[in-house]
Amino acid sequence: MTIPQRFDDGILLQPAITAPPSPESVDFRGYRCRAAHLKHVLGRTERRRLDAAEFMPMVQMLARHRAVDFADVLDLKAQACGGDGPPDDATITTLRELFLQMPNRRLQRLYRDYLANSPPAPGSSQDEKIASLDAVRNEAQSIVSAYDWRWLADWLRLDLLGETAETCLLRLSNLAFPVKGITFRFTYHCNISCRHCYNGSGPHAKAQRIDLDAMRAVIEQMPDAGIPWLNITGGEPFLYPDELVALVIAGRAANLAAISIYTNGFWAETTDKAERMLTRLGAAGFMARPGDHLQVSAGVYHQEFLDFDRVCVLANSFYQMFGRRIRLNFELPAGRRREAEEDRVRQRLAAAGAVDRVSLSFRAIDRVGRGRNLLDSPLRQIDEPCRVIEQIVIDPDGAVRPCCGFNNENHGVKIGELARDRLRDLVRRMQNDSILQFLARNPMSAIFDHVAGEKNAAGYAGPCSLCQHALGGLVDKAALQERLFDQQEFYPFWFTSHTMDGWQ
Ligand code: SF4
Ligand code: SF4
Repeated sequence: MTIPQRFDDGILLQPAITAPPSPESVDFRGYRCRAAHLKHVLGRTERRRLDAAEFMPMVQMLARHRAVDFADVLDLKAQACGGDGPPDDATITTLRELFLQMPNRRLQRLYRDYLANSPPAPGSSQDEKIASLDAVRNEAQSIVSAYDWRWLADWLRLDLLGETAETCLLRLSNLAFPVKGITFRFTYHCNISCRHCYNGSGPHAKAQRIDLDAMRAVIEQMPDAGIPWLNITGGEPFLYPDELVALVIAGRAANLAAISIYTNGFWAETTDKAERMLTRLGAAGFMARPGDHLQVSAGVYHQEFLDFDRVCVLANSFYQMFGRRIRLNFELPAGRRREAEEDRVRQRLAAAGAVDRVSLSFRAIDRVGRGRNLLDSPLRQIDEPCRVIEQIVIDPDGAVRPCCGFNNENHGVKIGELARDRLRDLVRRMQNDSILQFLARNPMSAIFDHVAGEKNAAGYAGPCSLCQHALGGLVDKAALQERLFDQQEFYPFWFTSHTMDGWQ
């Protein structure tokens, strides 16, 4: 009997799925889920979003039968789990990743073989090596053209996600990390100066903000790069309401699926003021799509400056206007008892009649930025990969970073400059960055095997403080990329329907 394989989060792989693989097919219809595909994809999926009780029976079934044995993903779900209704979005997108392993594995072999047989000149940079793969562009396109992308999109019911065969194909160009969003951290100017602020924002930081036209130019490129989500944060973006409204208008003109805005809620001083601001945003198109949301940051350190009443006013006004909840991120203070703090927040919301008008989540404070001085935050070993590299973050000085955790103090892993790079080039550079791939696929603390400096034996307050320690002062990024190059996957091309022979 085959022993079930247990992943590190406890998901069980039943014996059927660990059966020997069939010969590699070039036809999505013949796809059967393999253990290697599953391990690869789950290793970088943010599993909080995945419903294992739904997903695992479906992949078990897909290991025993070919995809074409089911009418579509709804039929697969009905046969695997019973009941009606479509699977979760996360189930569909993770299944898509599994199918994409078929062409991706063949592409990776093509690229590796080429680099082995035609090694780039000694001393070539990582970017130059990847550019040399242009020599196999036609072969790569023929591999991809052999698959029936329309059939896959129909079978996966990508229409339920507002996607198409075209977006499915685009995803093959960006498999290293799902680049779901662009975040404009467009100013470090904030009306307050919280003790824990991870990017050091405050009233002093008025000098820089990203130029509005530059932001609009990025938004215009987002559909072409397959990026559906715009996130606006700071600092405090509501200090610049005209820009905020202009960004929402630009996002809607680009038909983005989701726009989110972060705020500390200072502007909801009264119901009247809150409603006036929300009316402006609503008229610009904010909250017109189901993925839109307002994210309010509050916590004990915010309340040293802002009364929590403003959050309650905002929650009530927002609900009245849009019929939806604000998302409230409550940052827990170092050293205080979590349960007592959670109770206190719920009681205040209940007293204001807003408890059902808030999606509440609590989170610990990482020791980065000004938060690094909060020395009583608990430490732990960071033995998991980073699963949140999924945005491109653009800073007030025009620096482009691969996540919001790399803040303005962490100069180690920039991926570009707003003034110089087009969005597609930024996505491609991020996809092909061997350092980021390493962080996303390995226990994060393993990065200390490749950089100068010792891991903190006591651990870290969170993954981002580990990154800050290991990579914040990185001077020679190219040398580190080179050391990690052999573990890398390559994403040198954008595959779109109009670049494909025979698929229009
Ligand atoms: S944590 Fe948020 S509200 Fe506080 S200073 Fe930083 S940006 Fe401003
Ligand atoms: S700073 Fe590091 S741990 Fe934090 S989100 Fe970015 S890559 Fe992940």
